[in-house]
Amino acid sequence: MNITDAWRSARSSYPPGYLNAASCNVPSDAVLDAVVAQLRREQELGAYEATPDLSGGRAALAALVDADGPDVAFLESATAAMAALLGGWALPPGSRIGVTHVEYGSTTMLLRRLAPQHDWRLVDLPMDGDSRLDPAALEPLLPGLSLVVHPHIASQRGVVQPAAAVGALCRAAGVPYVLDVCQSLGHVDVTGVGATAYVGTSRKWLAGPRGVGFLIVPGLDEATMDAAVPALGSHRWAGDDPAPEPGAARYETSEAAIAARVGLATAVLELHALGPAAVHAHLAALGPTTRDILDGAGGWRVVEPFAEPSAITTLRPPPGDDPAAAVERARALAAERSLTVAAIPTSRSPADMPTPVLRVSPTPATTESDLKALAAVLAA
Ligand SMILES: *Cc1c(COP(=O)(O)O)cnc(C)c1O
Repeated sequence: MNITDAWRSARSSYPPGYLNAASCNVPSDAVLDAVVAQLRREQELGAYEATPDLSGGRAALAALVDADGPDVAFLESATAAMAALLGGWALPPGSRIGVTHVEYGSTTMLLRRLAPQHDWRLVDLPMDGDSRLDPAALEPLLPGLSLVVHPHIASQRGVVQPAAAVGALCRAAGVPYVLDVCQSLGHVDVTGVGATAYVGTSRKWLAGPRGVGFLIVPGLDEATMDAAVPALGSHRWAGDDPAPEPGAARYETSEAAIAARVGLATAVLELHALGPAAVHAHLAALGPTTRDILDGAGGWRVVEPFAEPSAITTLRPPPGDDPAAAVERARALAAERSLTVAAIPTSRSPADMPTPVLRVSPTPATTESDLKALAAVLAA
C-alpha cells in the first residue's frame, strides 16, 4: 500500500480536506485506542499500578534523532520542554546566544526573559532572503557564541534549515546546539544532526495526541545543564536533599497525562512501521505538488522556493486588498468548502513576515483533488 492509503486507512474517521498538519495532525485509531486502553487500565488497576512501560516508545522516538530511550524526557508541550531546558542551563554571565529571526514566539519570549536575568546576549544569526541560515556566514561567528538555538522548520514558512551543516559546525567549534524539531520530526529527516538537545511536540507531524511535548538530550552534561531543573523535574532523595534523577529524566514531570504519552509512543511506533524515510519522501514530494497547484490561483503567490523538500506551503495574498482581511477571508471560504487551512498573522513572527500568509500543510493522506479544490476556492 502507498503512504497515502496506508495513512488514511489507519483512521476510521478523518476530516475531509484537512490541510492543517502543522497546527495539529489527525491521530490514528491505534493512537486513540492506546490512550483509551491506558485510561481503562488506570480505572481497573489503580493509576499507579497501571504505570506503563514506555521504554520502547522512548527508544523509537530517540532513534529519529540518533539518540537512546533514556535521553528522552516527556513534558506537556514543546514550550514547557524548552523552558525546562533553557531555564536550567547554567550558561555563564556574558554568554552570547545565537538566535534567528524566524524563532517561535514562546522561545523568543523565554530567551528575552532569561537573558537580562543571567546577563546573556542574544545575537541574530545571518540568514538569506528565504530566511535560511547560511552556514558559511555562521562559521566565523561560532567562536564567540555559547549556544545556538533555532527551529529546524519555522511555523510560518516551509523552509528546511540546514541543520546537519549547522550541527557539524557547532560540534567542530564546541558550541552547544539546540534544535526545535516541532515542525520537522515525522516530516523530514532529523538524523545526522548531532545536536546537544532537541525540543519537539506530539500533535504535529508525529500525529500523536495533544498535550505532550518532549526534550531529547543525548549524553546530558549534568555539570552545566541541570542547575535550575530540580525545582521542576523528577527527583529522588539523597539524604536530606531532593536530587534530580540522572540523565534526561530530571527534566520530566512525574505527574502527567500518562495516557497521552502512551498515545505518542504508539504514533511513533506507527511511523517506524510505515518507514520514516518513505513518509519523509512522500511529504517532500507533496510540498512541490502543493506549490505547483496553488501558485498563481486568484493571484496568490507561493513564498517558499518551489522545490523545498517540506510539505508546508505558505501563500501571500494578491496585491491590493488589506492582506490580513484577504487571508482571513480565504481561510473562511476554504472552511465553508471543508478545506482546513491556517491564517498566519504577521504577529506570529513579525521579523520574518512582511505580510500575513495562508498556510497549507497537507497530511500524508492529502490527495491532489484536495489541493485542486483549494486552488478553485482561491481563484473564485
Ligand atoms: C508548535 C511549535 C512550537 C510550540 O510547540 P507547543 O507544543 O505548542 O508548545 C515551537 N516551535 C515551533 C517551530 C512550533 O511549530
